Amino acid sequence: MKLLSIITPCYNEEDSIADFYAEVMKNEQFFHENGVELEFHFVDDGSQDGTLAAIKALRSGDERVNFTSFSRNFGKESAIYAGLKRAQGDYLVIMDADLQDPPGLLPEMYGFLAEGYDSVATRRVDRKGEPAIRSFWARRFYRLMKKISKVEIVDGARDYRLFTRQVAEAILMMSEYNRFTKGIYGWVGYRTKWLEFENIARRKGETKWSFWRLFSYSLDGITAFSTAPLAVSSFMGVIFCLIAFVFLIIVVVKALIFGDPTDGWPSMVSIILLAAGIQLFCVGIIGQYLAKTYMEVKNRPLYLVKEES
Ligand code: UDP
Ligand code: MG
Repeated sequence: MKLLSIITPCYNEEDSIADFYAEVMKNEQFFHENGVELEFHFVDDGSQDGTLAAIKALRSGDERVNFTSFSRNFGKESAIYAGLKRAQGDYLVIMDADLQDPPGLLPEMYGFLAEGYDSVATRRVDRKGEPAIRSFWARRFYRLMKKISKVEIVDGARDYRLFTRQVAEAILMMSEYNRFTKGIYGWVGYRTKWLEFENIARRKGETKWSFWRLFSYSLDGITAFSTAPLAVSSFMGVIFCLIAFVFLIIVVVKALIFGDPTDGWPSMVSIILLAAGIQLFCVGIIGQYLAKTYMEVKNRPLYLVKEES
C-alpha cells in the first residue's frame, strides 16, 4: 500500500474542518481501489477559534488524522512547511481547508502521477466571486513577475498540488525564511501537469488575506525570486548621472556667456528634490533586500509547535 498525505493549513477554520474531511473522504473508495491509503495532516496556524478542538474531534474518530498546532499565527507558508515536514506519505497534496481546492479533482490528479508526472498543479481559470480590485492587482503582479523573475510563476496558480515524495524533499530543502511557495514550486521544477478549474467561492468562514496582507506577500514574492528591482535602481542612477552631466555643461556655459549664476533657482530646487526622491526610493529598494537578508541570517525557526499528535 502507498500512502497519500493530505496537508491542510488552517487558520480560524472551525466551521470548515468537518466539511473538508467529509468531502475528501468521498475519494477514499477510489484511492483504496488503487492501493493508496489516506492520512491527514492539519496544521493549526495559531487559530483563536475552535479549530484545534474541531481537529481533535476528528482525530478521536479517525486515527489517520494528525495535527500540528503552532504557538501563534506564523502564516500559511510556515504551516505548509510544517505539514510537509511531518507527513510520511509517498504522495503529498496541499489543500486549503475552505474547500476552494476541490477534493473531487484528486482522482484525476492522481491519475497523472500514475502516468509518470512528478507533480500535478492546479490553476483557476477565472477569479469569479473575488473583488474586482483584487483580481486587477493580482493580474498586474503575475504579469510583472513573469517579466522580472527567472522561475515560472503561473497566473491563477493555487497552492493545491499533488506531488511525489521526491518533490516534497526538494521543497523541504528550501528552508528559507521568506517563503513564497508558488515560486518555490517553480524553482524545484520536475515534470508538472497543469489542471484547470473554475473558481469556487469559499463555503464558510472568511478569507484571511486582506488587501495589505496580499500586497506585502507580493513584495515578498518579488524580493524572493527576483533581483530586478536592484538592477532598476542602479540603472536609474546611471540615467540621472547622465542628465546631471548634461545640465552641468548647460549651466556652466550659460553662466560664462550670460554671467547670471543665480538664475533658475526654482528649477534647481525641483531637480534637487527629484534627485533626492529617486535616491531615497533606490535606497529603499536596497533596504528591502537587506531586511530580507537580515531575517534570513538570523536563521530563526519557521514556526514553533505547541502541540502535536
Ligand atoms: N491560512 C493559514 N494561515 C494564515 C492564513 C491562512 O494557515 O495565516 C490558511 C487558511 O486557513 C486556508 C488557506 O490558508 O486553509 C487559504 O486561506 P484563505 O482561504 O483565507 O485564502 P484565499 O483562498 O482567500 O486566498
Ligand atoms: Mg480560500
